[in-house]
Amino acid sequence: MPPSPLPEITLDPANWSEFSALAQQALGDALGFLEGVRERPVWRPVPEEIAREIAEPLPRSGRPLAEVYDQFRRCILPYPTGNIHPRFWGWVMGSGSALSVVSELLAATMNAHVAGYDQSAALVEERVLGWLKELMGFPAEASGVLVSGGTMANLIGLAVARHERAGFDPRAEGLSGKPPLMVYASTETHHWVEKACELLGLGRVGLTRIPCDSEHRVLLPELRQAIHRDRARGLRPICLVGSAGTVNIGATDDLRALAALSREENLWFHVDGAFGALARLSPALAPLVAGIEEADSLAFDLHKWGFLPYGVGCTLVRDGAASTRAFARSASYLAGLGRGISPGPLGFADRGLELSRGFRALKVWMALKVEGVDRWGALFEQNVRQAQHLAARVAREPRLELLAPVPLNIVCFRVRAAPELVDAWNQELLLRIQESGLALPSSTRINGHFAIRVCLTNHRTRQADLDQFLDALLALAADLPAAA
Ligand SMILES: *Cc1c(COP(=O)(O)O)cnc(C)c1O
Repeated sequence: MPPSPLPEITLDPANWSEFSALAQQALGDALGFLEGVRERPVWRPVPEEIAREIAEPLPRSGRPLAEVYDQFRRCILPYPTGNIHPRFWGWVMGSGSALSVVSELLAATMNAHVAGYDQSAALVEERVLGWLKELMGFPAEASGVLVSGGTMANLIGLAVARHERAGFDPRAEGLSGKPPLMVYASTETHHWVEKACELLGLGRVGLTRIPCDSEHRVLLPELRQAIHRDRARGLRPICLVGSAGTVNIGATDDLRALAALSREENLWFHVDGAFGALARLSPALAPLVAGIEEADSLAFDLHKWGFLPYGVGCTLVRDGAASTRAFARSASYLAGLGRGISPGPLGFADRGLELSRGFRALKVWMALKVEGVDRWGALFEQNVRQAQHLAARVAREPRLELLAPVPLNIVCFRVRAAPELVDAWNQELLLRIQESGLALPSSTRINGHFAIRVCLTNHRTRQADLDQFLDALLALAADLPAAA
């Protein structure tokens, strides 16, 4: 007797209309959650019993969606980082948008594989990259690729730099037995540059950090000296890294001078514009990041100041062929066949690390089309005005002091107190504000001092939110023992 065949199974819903009802409820709840965001605390800790409930054993057999969705609503949705809230100003986070709830849903529906291929999603990504090149002042022949975020975008840029300026083929030969390769960045450059040098085999010895002036811009004479000193020692300088918007205070290096120096010294010029690069979208702010357009490679995020959901960043490379030289591989199972769905090389996979990659371009495309570049520019200007308003209030309040210039959208300040107490007090005040759920700034150190740091990359923030936060901070400060 032949064995009876196993029933064939699938993950599609057994009952589409039942599934659809739940999906529509989830969509409605999601939009309601966004609409009501201002009414909730910015952040609250996850209660212990909720954490215990999430720590469940491996589910061997499935549960009904309605039950799991209910658990999501109780245990997960109410305890986010809070970065979609109008009074979240910590680190450099993104506030997302209602529109992207729709674009992410549609991208998930298509689940396009965007390594390349003859498909609409590839055309959409190329179009988005074309727009981004135009906005950043890059030529049409430049190459671009959307990646998961700023760290990855910078890593890709540095990988191209290494390949173009090593003087040998690091892909084929590796680095051993070769002159040590050197990268130069400022002491204010974000720590992605350390991760990238580690991963690319240069090690942290391959990274020279150059000091900055009081405006947090790299010191050019020191930079030039370091390059010459390293050459004289038999090391091989390959790349200058400039910052457009440093993570601590939003400072921008003299990018034109860095571009000139890189040409003089035959070095690659990479710019980390994680959030600052987007200032170019506003005619009023563009001069603050002048020189970006002279970079050999530029990395920036769209999930921070671009108001898009995680994760999407972008690398642009002026010499488009350089990025394929650094990444393209051929493999029989991926060969283009001249016609059909895969007529040629896989364009996006050949410009970066990822082979299987999703349709992250859709949310960028839809936002740029629906919202328009000018609206983004106006929002960036609004955030910069808000930073200036906060800085002006801090400067007026006798109890407060600014700790750094405010060149863009970040304000670092503290409550005044006796020198031996000031760091501990400010940390305590910041934690009390965070724990109150009223507002969420983060912290950093400026010249060794603890600073309360407010970073405005939030399209929901109103000036009154900043005033409310500052009033609350001053009230808390009044409760502390008298200032020095
Ligand atoms: C956030 C940030 C990065 C890293 O980007 P991710 O998207 O977080 O990986 C790099 N540089 C600067 C200046 C940043 O603010």
